[in-house]
Amino acid sequence: MQSILLVEDSDRIASFVVKGLQSHGFDCARCESGEEALKLIAAADFDLVILDIGLPGIDGFEVLRSMRGQGFDVPVIVLTARDSVDNTVASFAGGADDYMGKPFSFDELLARVRTRIRKQSSATATEQSLELGSLTLNLLTRKAERDGKEHELTAREFGILEFLMSHPGQVISREQLLSRVWSYDHDPESNVVDVYIRYLRQKLGNDVIQTVRGVGYRMVANI
Ligand code: CA
Repeated sequence: MQSILLVEDSDRIASFVVKGLQSHGFDCARCESGEEALKLIAAADFDLVILDIGLPGIDGFEVLRSMRGQGFDVPVIVLTARDSVDNTVASFAGGADDYMGKPFSFDELLARVRTRIRKQSSATATEQSLELGSLTLNLLTRKAERDGKEHELTAREFGILEFLMSHPGQVISREQLLSRVWSYDHDPESNVVDVYIRYLRQKLGNDVIQTVRGVGYRMVANI
């Protein structure tokens, strides 16, 4: 059974989401605050987290940053009343996989939950390579191939490309790449990510990775 954590302080919304998910065969836990959510995510192995942004205490953005910073890569669907473009981009950059503006219908949420869980299980099933249009990254040999040409990658280049290719079309912040690829051993002011993105573009072509000004980078989904 797939297990889902719902982080939502409104009893009314939580009860309709929990009941709905349970009636569709999901195991659904709920908590009301970001602090509780971080404890539960560290303690249990959820398949998906549904995260409200407006929470008492630390908000949903803070929860996302903190859990991604600690290396928890469970997929997250963000729920937000503040469904402006800025907030959406901020939540993707903070490591969300999808978002929904409130109010939403249960069917819409269910469709997104199913898509997310399916993507996650197919990602773990095909571990040998990542493919995106004309680009293939072999996870065993750690080489990239584009248009029949093979490219050797350094460990950092591979780390960045693997993370970007796992999140096609999403905006990934420099901070996320730093904490993923350089772990805690990095200076947040450093421009080292930009340097490695440049190396990757030189090898694979300028069109594969877009710069999103002031935020970070995005892997082009249809190369
Ligand atoms: Ca709320």
